[in-house]
Amino acid sequence: MDLGISGRRALVCASSKGLGRGCAEALAAEGVNLVMNARTPGPLEEAAGAIRAAHGVDVVTVAADITAEEGRADVLAAAGDVDILVTNAGGPPPGMWSDWTREDFIRALDANMLTPIALMTALLPAMMERGWGRVVNITSVAVKAPIPVLGLSNSARAGLTGYVAGTARQVAPFGVTINNLLPGIHATDRADALDRAVAEAEGISLDEARRRRADTIPARRYGLPEEFGAACAFLCSRHAGFIVGQNILLDGGATCTTF
Ligand code: NAP
Repeated sequence: MDLGISGRRALVCASSKGLGRGCAEALAAEGVNLVMNARTPGPLEEAAGAIRAAHGVDVVTVAADITAEEGRADVLAAAGDVDILVTNAGGPPPGMWSDWTREDFIRALDANMLTPIALMTALLPAMMERGWGRVVNITSVAVKAPIPVLGLSNSARAGLTGYVAGTARQVAPFGVTINNLLPGIHATDRADALDRAVAEAEGISLDEARRRRADTIPARRYGLPEEFGAACAFLCSRHAGFIVGQNILLDGGATCTTF
């Protein structure tokens, strides 16, 4: 299927690795030129080089913390008027409700709610003026099925989800869609770090920790960044203009709900 977005330009945040990289790769495979971002320059340049070589698209890189005002300003300056925005950043740390301070909440809200909102606020007006735009926010399965130890993430992502539900309806008349992708467990560095911690705590091998977690998923495996990227690219395609304000789970069936 031709997604009809060749020659468009996308900002993909936090995209040197993992799910963000999966989205960048899938968009590049459709001929979309990219602005890629991550904090660490080495892996970012490596990812950008690999994508240029594989897909022949233009890739601009900005090494910056997307959750910090200054970093965001650098990224937005390089991005200019993009047609597609994919928001992403690292998730807040796990913990216990009784330990979280106001500062912890402010940090989580800044990273996983106010950062994507600031990016949308900056980039939506030009998309609306041109009559076409796509925004995909990478959130989490925790939006539909809260994960108790990730209370900071549950809270921040719920706030973003509420914002998107309203705003998506306000920009839809201008040919701009906003949707959220909700990852369940995917095979990325983050999943690896969690599995290593479990393996260490329980005195089991890393493979065993992975196998046990995969057994909790009806698909009996972790999702792949490539699959996640393909879903993102479809949401950014010309075929997806009627998909507005949705929260789409990619979790191998792990969240047992009817809707
Ligand atoms: P990952 O494999 O650890 O990759 C994170 C990417 O984001 C890296 O490129 C990292 O590069 C970049 N990054 C992190 N913080 C950043 C910041 N402040 N500014 C700019 N770039 C930043 O993580 P992932 O698994 O793809 O997860 C992506 C998001 O999905 C996270 O919010 C995570 O909580 C959520 N999620 C993931 C899963 C899963 O199973 N993987 C499940 C549910 C939700 P630098 O470190 O160099 O900045």
